[in-house]
Amino acid sequence: MATIINRVRQFVQQLFGQTPEPEQKKEQIVKGLVKALDLTEEREIACEEVFEVIDQYAELVSQGESPDKVMPLVQHHLIICGHCREEFEMLLDMLNAKPA
Ligand SMILES: [Zn+2]
Repeated sequence: MATIINRVRQFVQQLFGQTPEPEQKKEQIVKGLVKALDLTEEREIACEEVFEVIDQYAELVSQGESPDKVMPLVQHHLIICGHCREEFEMLLDMLNAKPA
């Protein structure tokens, strides 16, 4: 757990970089992120499972639906997994390129 906190802390530091955010606020964000990770960790889904529904998910998004309600786990996975996010963005581009 300590490792995760340190990684999140690093991430937040990178995120804010040179901005003069008070340390206290950064630490608050760190705690919030760690809590969110902790809550969702056991419900984590793997890339292959995301790949099975990613086209469906992209279609929902392109139709203006709220996939976070239909597929919250997929949405969470896309936040933490750059690989799947790329796939999703590619699909979304394709869907959006289609004539209505
Ligand atoms: Zn993934």
